[in-house]
Amino acid sequence: MTFAVHGLPVARGIAIGRAVLVVSSRIDVAHYFIKPEQVETEIGRVRSARNAVADELTKLQASVALMGPNDAPHELAALLEVHQMLLQDEALSTGVKQWITNRLYNAEWALTTQLEVIARQFDEMEDEYLRERKADLEQVVERVLHRMKGTAAVLAPSPPRRKRAAAHDDDDQADPTSGDGIDVPLVLIAHDLSPADMLQFKKSVFAGFVTDVGGRTSHTAIVARSMDIPAVVGARTASQLVRQDDWVIIDGDAGVVIVDPSPIILAEYGFKQRQGDLERGRLARLRHKPAVTLDGERVDLLANIEMPEDTVGAVKAGAVGVGLFRSEFLFMGREAQRLTRLPDEEEQYSAYRRAVEGMQGMPVTVRTIDIGADKPLDGKSSRQEHLNPALGLRAIRWSLADPAMFLTQLRAILRAAAHGEIHLLIPMLAHASEIHQTLALIAQAREQLDQRGVAYGQVKLGAMIEIPAAALTLKTFLKHFDFLSIGTNDLIQYTLAIDRADEAVAHLYDPAHPAVLRLVADTIAECVRQGKGVSVCGEMAGDVMFTRLLLGLGLRSFSMHPSQILAVKQEVLRADTGKLKAWAQGVLHAEDPAALLAAPR
Ligand code: PEP
Ligand code: MG
Repeated sequence: MTFAVHGLPVARGIAIGRAVLVVSSRIDVAHYFIKPEQVETEIGRVRSARNAVADELTKLQASVALMGPNDAPHELAALLEVHQMLLQDEALSTGVKQWITNRLYNAEWALTTQLEVIARQFDEMEDEYLRERKADLEQVVERVLHRMKGTAAVLAPSPPRRKRAAAHDDDDQADPTSGDGIDVPLVLIAHDLSPADMLQFKKSVFAGFVTDVGGRTSHTAIVARSMDIPAVVGARTASQLVRQDDWVIIDGDAGVVIVDPSPIILAEYGFKQRQGDLERGRLARLRHKPAVTLDGERVDLLANIEMPEDTVGAVKAGAVGVGLFRSEFLFMGREAQRLTRLPDEEEQYSAYRRAVEGMQGMPVTVRTIDIGADKPLDGKSSRQEHLNPALGLRAIRWSLADPAMFLTQLRAILRAAAHGEIHLLIPMLAHASEIHQTLALIAQAREQLDQRGVAYGQVKLGAMIEIPAAALTLKTFLKHFDFLSIGTNDLIQYTLAIDRADEAVAHLYDPAHPAVLRLVADTIAECVRQGKGVSVCGEMAGDVMFTRLLLGLGLRSFSMHPSQILAVKQEVLRADTGKLKAWAQGVLHAEDPAALLAAPR
């Protein structure tokens, strides 16, 4: 039966595919396609691991049998018996084989997919005792996964498959993997994904994403947007309502997820998908066109990136530099990759240098680490550990609390500046004392490199304006910095007291609120007055609804995901900044600026 789940649209376009449900705790399980000739090996890997676990359990059972009732309670023997039964369960082994054979999933992915299928069946059982066996099944699968570690032949994920879905029939209950072969597109459904998890999926097989939680500018949503595939967050109960392998349409424009669509709905969305492809094709022709307004104003369209490799996409999209390299992504999710807790100076230097070289002579703005709030280091902790993480030890506060770590990063950035133009950007400053401490540490990093006789380059220094306190004390900032970059995502969060990652208050997260627009306008105006550089690097810069307003306010530097550059360029090419100036002032003074922004020109 067709039904729809509503959430928040975060990345444009339509994806149609089969649902892959991933439980947060198993996100670090590798997801990749194997080659048809590897099917037997992959099935063999599961079989060997399962046999090894069976032996392990048998030995445990034998030792329990030798113990007295005081050392090993009767329940323990019964539990081991249950684990053996679950391990040998036909539904588990048959299902796993089918996912591997019919879909070419790697063994670990097949195992966790089948686990989800069976777990759902347990959830639906009337009998409480049987329902509780789900936890045992999970433990058994965990053991098998553990045994499989290190036995995979292929580790590199395959590129995404974007083949369009054909109309389907619903006759595949017995074998959920049958019916449409291996080239079927897949969409990922999860309760929650941390930004680090998202990053792991960046080069993966999925054509779209849905999460139950998250706001439009949560970092998970930001990474989804950078992947340029349709995504919906804040879909609340989606991961409970959608079943493994259901057909799903993700409408990333409207924020709607349609489950089990009828052939008519499928056809309608297939049409929309093709329209989107045509529009992209049309925009692609603007790639080499300079971003100049009708009245001859040059506008810099820069890229936001998370990894040095993202510079490839940035150059391809026609970016004239990187306006925001979120360096914290180098620090996140390292445990899962079995790397040292933090990247050392050499590793960071190499990453920043690769970004500089990737941009082929164009400037790269490296923002120092912004960890905390919805970007925990290990993908889990911060939200649970701190009462109010967005107001806590985040960004520059984190760096100043750990000067050794900060100095390491500063030295690496300064060294990379010897290879090209780097702008050094500091996040979340609010106090003059933080500015002074930061500048002192930058001077110290230079001294340390001088003492070591290591080459480094000059950098322009910039501060992010993302706290109202900073936007209200611009003169202090401009005394010390060469340029400012407005982080509207946080500026909105802190001005309106709305957690940007909380879907429950997402309707109040309003970029067009007059107070937000006032702070943005004043920051641009003061920089223009003092002849200092200013750019916007929050999501507002990539939202075409705001392009004309920002141009009218005097902004000439926008930084956004590469996938948004061409649409914004189209707006720039159609704009006349002379005419927009007065109109922008009208928007600033309106009670409902959103209505004016949405009105046709
Ligand atoms: C912002 O806050 O607007 C910004 C660009 O930084 P981030 O989204 O990484 O917090
Ligand atoms: Mg920010």
